[in-house]
Amino acid sequence: MTAAVNAAARATELRRLLEKAAHEYYVLDKPKLSDAAYDKLFRELQALERDHPELRVGDSPTNRVGAAVTESHLTKYTHLVPMASLDNAFDETELAEWQERVTKLVGDAVGRDGYCCELKIDGAAVSLTYRDGKLVTGATRGNGTVGEDVTANIRTIADVPGHLEGEGWPEVIEIRGEIYMTFDGFERMNADRVKAGEEVFANPRNSAAGALRQKDPRETARKPLRFFGYAFAVPGNAELPFRTQWELLESLAAWGVPVAPHRKRCPTLDAVNEWARDLESTTRATLPFAIDGGVVKVNQLTLQSELGVVGGRVPRWAIARKFAPDIAETTLLDIEVQVGRTGALTPRAVLAPVEVGGATINYATLHNFELVAEKDLRIGDTVLVKRAGEVIPQILGPIPERRTGEERVVRAPTHCPVCGTAVVRDDEEVATYCPNVTCAGRRLEALAHFTSRDAMDIRGLSHQRLEQLLAAGLVEDAGDLYSLTAEQIAGLERFAERSAEQLVAAIEASKQQPLSRLLNAVGIRHVGAESAKLLARAFGTLDALEAATVEELEALHGVGETMAHAVHDWVHDASVQKLLAKFRAAALRLDEPRSAAADGAFKGMKIVLTGTLPTLSRGQATELVENAGGKVTSSVSKATDLVVAGEEAGSKLEKAQQLGVTVIDEAELLRRLAT
Ligand code: NAD
Repeated sequence: MTAAVNAAARATELRRLLEKAAHEYYVLDKPKLSDAAYDKLFRELQALERDHPELRVGDSPTNRVGAAVTESHLTKYTHLVPMASLDNAFDETELAEWQERVTKLVGDAVGRDGYCCELKIDGAAVSLTYRDGKLVTGATRGNGTVGEDVTANIRTIADVPGHLEGEGWPEVIEIRGEIYMTFDGFERMNADRVKAGEEVFANPRNSAAGALRQKDPRETARKPLRFFGYAFAVPGNAELPFRTQWELLESLAAWGVPVAPHRKRCPTLDAVNEWARDLESTTRATLPFAIDGGVVKVNQLTLQSELGVVGGRVPRWAIARKFAPDIAETTLLDIEVQVGRTGALTPRAVLAPVEVGGATINYATLHNFELVAEKDLRIGDTVLVKRAGEVIPQILGPIPERRTGEERVVRAPTHCPVCGTAVVRDDEEVATYCPNVTCAGRRLEALAHFTSRDAMDIRGLSHQRLEQLLAAGLVEDAGDLYSLTAEQIAGLERFAERSAEQLVAAIEASKQQPLSRLLNAVGIRHVGAESAKLLARAFGTLDALEAATVEELEALHGVGETMAHAVHDWVHDASVQKLLAKFRAAALRLDEPRSAAADGAFKGMKIVLTGTLPTLSRGQATELVENAGGKVTSSVSKATDLVVAGEEAGSKLEKAQQLGVTVIDEAELLRRLAT
């Protein structure tokens, strides 16, 4: 076969694949390809058509917006002005090439009003017609020229105003924008669908598009749909109250139309690149909804008209700066069970490695087995994984239509995977526990918690080193740490003599930690750092706590029945008694310093911490305040005595200023503590 025949065959094949994918994506709202895979095929076809002009055909997907219009239950709607798609720039070079093309056509004129940068909302495009400020029609984009009338469905969406507010709107205006779903809304909706035995939606975009095209508006009303406006069309030469894209967005907002946050006017392409970098690396992770990039638009509207639209498909004056997808598909290879320090058995998803949001993901948290059942996750499933910034990757759900029948349902374990003990279930907490306090898995996690920063704060003991100590039989529980010698530690692999000595010194120093830290460190069920403080302050010494009855414990404000029983059971457990004996033999401080709190600088005061303090962590500042008799609370009210504000203090600082509450900084906090 010649190269030309090859190219023709490939072009036909690509058109077939792209048309099939577009139908699945736009009409069925059930894509089978990932967006990245679709974009790759699309670009391949574009390149072939560029290099072989004889292969160009009028109805190629490269000349089209959306999918071919097919018959459906919805009435057709012809747009006032066609709704275009967007060309893509996948990196800064491609963006610079776009600017060059623009400059060739309009010279340096862009510089005057610059670019308007916006989030590229990953939803479904709609056009809303307002006549005399009143919503009369809502339509989908369809093939760009003809869409579907979804007015009744659109009216159920709270974000879409029935009447425009304020004034200045043209007599007839089509407000265009995106119907989308938040991640929260999407998850809730899919959870409901699982409960109702319905198929789950693949991602927020497809759920939004599907929900918009429902037959029954009551069905749409039940879906958590939202709207952002970003474009307009008006008939003929209607007079416009805005001159730039930026002013359009401001007008929309003034008329009560939601406009997406994080928009920016950028005078130069450098500024656009900076905005896009920040969006991809930082802002994107904080958004409660999906974006697939940013959109860069020539700001001045007269320039936009001058630049026009290429082949009815994409405007020359705007471009999508696309990002690496932060949702990806992969296979759920296994569900492992991890043993926590309290014995809680937590499932963890093992995934076929996949690139999401710029990192390779191998695992995702699953929280508990209830969630595994709720999401109907099966080993072997194709799943959607989302990674947002630093957040631990999450599984959004399986794609059931990819199932082959070979997938395996996973149930909560009946026995601990580490020690084999039969598990117990705590219905109140949806958790499954290994009840064996000597379980090796529990031991390791318990030791890691004991030595952690907020507990006994023993530096130099990583998980790996704790594992070494356990494996060598040098420690079985936290009490054994106090009889370790530098010689024993130095004998272990990769331990230098000096670090062994430092470790022994750190362990020695931890003996002076107050009872509150010790009670947190030993990991009593239902007792966290706060409750540990409460108990330590109320009883003062370990002896007094040991002698307390369930009734005495329960009588404490902040201690409920469950915690009272947990503490009582804990002190009377035989293995705990052995542990406490070791602490006593090693002469740990087993009491709580009282005097400081009672007459401290902040005695009886309610204090709120906000923003990042220059040197103190949140935990350290809280401890200092509490040791000085103050109470740290989370929200600012009239009852607040002081607000300690650091950098990037937000709404709490504003509220304090409104209410006239005294605001101090870290330096002042430390000064007051010292007096
Ligand atoms: P697009 O999604 O790449 O970009 C154009 C659309 O962006 C506009 O129509 C509008 O709806 C939206 N948009 C969001 N925010 C905007 C803003 N602030 N300003 C302007 N527009 C904004 O283009 P498209 O034509 O809707 O779809 C093409 C893309 O869809 C492909 O690149 C691919 O990623 C995906 N797709 C995937 C499949 C699949 O099988 N997975 C099939 C077809 C299409």
